[in-house]
Amino acid sequence: MTDTDLPKRPLALLGLGDMGTVLAHGWLAAGHPLTVWNRTAAKARALAPAGARVAESAAGAVAAADLVVVCLLDDASLDSALEGADLTGKDLVNLTTGTPAEGRARAAWARERGARFLDAGIMGTPAMVGVPGSGAYVFYSGSRPLFDRHRAVLEVPAAARFVGTDPGHAALHDVALLSAMYGLFAGISHAYALIEGEDVAPKDLAPLLSEWLGAMGFFVGNAAERLTSRDFTTGVVSSLAMQVAGSRTLLRTAAEQGVGAGLISPYLDLMRERLEADPARHGAEDTVGAITLLRRGAA
Ligand code: NDP
Repeated sequence: MTDTDLPKRPLALLGLGDMGTVLAHGWLAAGHPLTVWNRTAAKARALAPAGARVAESAAGAVAAADLVVVCLLDDASLDSALEGADLTGKDLVNLTTGTPAEGRARAAWARERGARFLDAGIMGTPAMVGVPGSGAYVFYSGSRPLFDRHRAVLEVPAAARFVGTDPGHAALHDVALLSAMYGLFAGISHAYALIEGEDVAPKDLAPLLSEWLGAMGFFVGNAAERLTSRDFTTGVVSSLAMQVAGSRTLLRTAAEQGVGAGLISPYLDLMRERLEADPARHGAEDTVGAITLLRRGAA
C-alpha cells in the first residue's frame, strides 16, 4: 500500500475569497474530503460540482471535520464567522493575514474554546498557490503537534515553513517580508518616475534595475551579520558619511526631474539622523547602524 492509497484526511475550509477558492480547489484536486462555508453562500455552492460539501453555516462546517482552516479577510472577520461555532477538540489553522499580536490573541482565544491553534501567513498570490515551482509557501507558527499532524494536508496547496511555537511568529515573518517588498516597490516606483518624460523607455531601464537590485541583495545578509555582531564599522567600503553626502544628489535629481522624493526620503533622513547623532563615531559605519533608530517603542 502506498501513501497515495491512504484515505485522505478530511478538512473544513471557511472563507472562499480569491485565496480560499484556490486553496479549496487544491485540496479537492488532491482528493481530500472538503467541507466549505462562505459568508456569501454562492461562492461555496460554486464548489459543489468539484466535490465540495457545502455547509449551511460556519458552525456546521466546523462540526464537519477535526481540521478547520480559515482564510478570511482579516482577524475581525474570524469573530463574526466563528461566533457560536463549537471549537472544542478542533485543530484550527488560521490562514488569514494578521499582526503578531492578533496571532497571539487568537491562539489564547482558541485555547479558551478548547481548540489547538496554528497561525499562518501566506507568501504568494492566488495565481501562485497550488502551482508547483511558483515559489509560494506558507509560514506557520503555534502548536507544533498540530503542525506535524496536518503538515501533509497543509502542504497540498503550498509548501509549509514552521517558524516557531510563538503563535505571533508566522505573522511576524509574513509582515517582515511584505514590508521589505513594499520598500523595494517604493524605490522601483521612484526610479521609473525619474525617467518619465525622458528619452529612456521603462522597458530599457527594467533589466538594469533588476540586475542592480540583484547585486544589492548582499545587503540582506550583511545587515543580518552586523545586527548580530553589533559591529557596524569593520570592512565598510561605502561609509555613512559618504552616503549621506551622496543622498543630496538623489534629492537634487528628484527636484530637477520634478519628482516628489517622498518614497525615498524617509530612508535618506534615517541615514542622516544616524550620522548627525555622532558624526565622528557613525560616519565610518555603513547604513546598517541606522536600523537601530527605527525601534521607537511598541504600540
Ligand atoms: P477576498 O477579499 O477575496 O475574500 C475575503 C473573504 O473573507 C471572503 O470569503 C469574505 O466573504 C470573507 N469575509 C470578509 N469579511 C467577513 C466577515 N465579517 N465575516 C465572514 N466572512 C468575511 O480576500 P482573499 O481571499 O484574497 O484573502 C484572504 C486572506 O488571505 C486575507 O487575510 C489576505 O490577506 C490573505 N492573502 C491574500 C493574498 C492575495 O493575493 N489574495 C496573498 C496572501 C495572503 P464574502 O465572500 O462573503 O465577502
